[in-house]
Amino acid sequence: MLRLSSITRTYPGGITALRDITLDVPRGLFGLLGPNGAGKSTLMRTIATLQRPDAGTITFGDLDVLRDRTALRQVLGYLPQEFGTYPRTSAERMLRHFAALKGLRGPQQRQAVDQLLVKTNLWEARHRSVDTFSGGMKQRYGIAQALLGNPRLLIVDEPTAGLDPAERRRFQNLLAEVGEDVVVILSTHIVEDVAGLCPLVAIMGEGRILRHGEADALVAALSGRVWTAVIPRDDARQLQTQVPVLASRWKNGRMEVRVLADTPPAGMTPVAPTLEDVYFSTLHGHGLTAPLD
Ligand code: ADP
Ligand code: MG
Repeated sequence: MLRLSSITRTYPGGITALRDITLDVPRGLFGLLGPNGAGKSTLMRTIATLQRPDAGTITFGDLDVLRDRTALRQVLGYLPQEFGTYPRTSAERMLRHFAALKGLRGPQQRQAVDQLLVKTNLWEARHRSVDTFSGGMKQRYGIAQALLGNPRLLIVDEPTAGLDPAERRRFQNLLAEVGEDVVVILSTHIVEDVAGLCPLVAIMGEGRILRHGEADALVAALSGRVWTAVIPRDDARQLQTQVPVLASRWKNGRMEVRVLADTPPAGMTPVAPTLEDVYFSTLHGHGLTAPLD
């Protein structure tokens, strides 16, 4: 549905944020994972036609996105990583304003706004100013705004930053509902946001797509290769010189580590792989993870 081909972008300062990005995104939820600085926001803004690439093509169905930006914008809903709101303006008023910009008038406008306020669970709060909203409410408001005019392509960039676990779950449920009939691209550095939600994922690092495919298949490919043990911190440091350490966390004063290895490392137990293992093993494979310090 959405097809990116050899997209490249170097900023005036000389940083190459996108390197030969080629990607096919079908209908449904697509997770774009990557650490800060990977190029996710640059890619999202490029698809949203707010920024031009130096080279490459983008098509959405039959639409040549870079040639016909106006047509793309008519079917686009975009929630940027950071968005501003007007102070002392109610959520309902703001939505009506943006609905008018999308060409919705009269009863049609009222109906669209009311439906979205209900869908995003903001009906009770509709008369409140958006700048008084909690983080989760603000993000749900952002989604309502992005959904005005029934977009066929929805881009949400790091939508769960600053949300508590309950708000995060509510936001995921909302996206899952929307994702049934449109193309949704969810960009995030938090694997948890994508796991179980997006059937397809891509992992980005240093401006490149490092790996992409069905989340389940990527996880299954690590079967029998992820191991865990609880060991003293110094041993953990030693271990990472021998095998890729995918994760580590304190457990009763010792380190619980997960490592990737094709043969059983001494004293370690096999564990079922997760999408987080896929993510960190991919970054590790490209020299992109910080070692234990
Ligand atoms: P992400 O969203 O994955 O954190 P970004 O697309 O924001 O990644 O940034 C990718 C790289 O491009 C980073 O090195 C960042 O510093 C750089 N970058 C982003 N925006 C600009 C800009 N407007 N001018 C110059 N460099 C930028
Ligand atoms: Mg970003």
